[in-house]
Amino acid sequence: MLIFNFHHVEARISHPDRKHISISPVGLSRLIRTLRLLGFGVVSMSEALAMSPQQLNDNRQVLLTFDDGYENNLLQALPVLEAEQCPATVFVLPGRYGGTNAWDQGHLPESQRDRLMNVRQMHQLVDSSLVTLGSHGMLHRDMTQLAPADLREELMKSYTVLQAEFGEHFLPVFAYPWGTHSDREVEALTQTPYQAAFTVETRPWQAEDHRFRIPRFSAFHRDGNPLIFLAKLARHQVLLAR
Ligand SMILES: [Zn+2]
Repeated sequence: MLIFNFHHVEARISHPDRKHISISPVGLSRLIRTLRLLGFGVVSMSEALAMSPQQLNDNRQVLLTFDDGYENNLLQALPVLEAEQCPATVFVLPGRYGGTNAWDQGHLPESQRDRLMNVRQMHQLVDSSLVTLGSHGMLHRDMTQLAPADLREELMKSYTVLQAEFGEHFLPVFAYPWGTHSDREVEALTQTPYQAAFTVETRPWQAEDHRFRIPRFSAFHRDGNPLIFLAKLARHQVLLAR
């Protein structure tokens, strides 16, 4: 199984740095079409969690995820997902509903930071029935630096709040902020209702992987170019294995 991880979807990339965390709507559409032309099936999170070890290991399925819950996920990504009838999972931060990216952009005035979806917008997103939500923690904190009580709060409060607000549209899956985690966080997750946790290690998800250390490929600007995207897949040998 291949998992691709996105952040921003935006038509115009405002700064060169954004090339590593943004993809255009056209690029996202091309990436989905390229995957399907190659014979990959795009599955939902619940389908992915139910897959047999053999299905996971034959690298014929793809899962799309988005981290942080930016407003552009609703405004720019959802129309593409609807046009392509493509499922996806968005990992959101219930401690920052309707807020901004203060964890990476705290040096900027609030008005210049990237906007996160509010609760109403998240409902619009899941009402499409193509998108399910997962937890990215409450506030986007480095899990490895937290005191035990804070770690538990990031894991369990985000679970409880999202479950209460979104019901079946929230699945018990977690994405580590920045992908950062250690054995302690993996162990802490075993004491919770979460079924899976995602990192940013770049390789396919294999059945042998720990369910709280599931790798994901980052996808961004240049992956919207089919030739560059094909080269990336070939480089990771996921085409040869087919
Ligand atoms: Zn994040």
